[in-house]
Amino acid sequence: MEEPEVPVKEPWREEASCRGHDLTLFFPDEGDLDGIERAKEICANCPVNDLCLSYAVETNQTEGIWGGATKQERRRLRRRWLKELREAS
Ligand code: SF4
Repeated sequence: MEEPEVPVKEPWREEASCRGHDLTLFFPDEGDLDGIERAKEICANCPVNDLCLSYAVETNQTEGIWGGATKQERRRLRRRWLKELREAS
């Protein structure tokens, strides 16, 4: 499966801790718990992890670690976010 490209349009990416890293680090195999943990450690110290996570949730990024969250974690956040949007409208 082709890995999604990490978009470069968002200005917050300039400060991303993953810049300069091999981005395949952020797309570990599903059962690769060590790989997931390594990516999460980098994200935990990233100054823009909140913006990254919001972007990933709002644009429905379905693969990889974004903002320190796995796809399963983001799926839950997205459901909650969509529910809040529905309730607010
Ligand atoms: S939170 Fe993680 S994936 Fe997102 S920009 Fe920072 S280091 Fe990269």
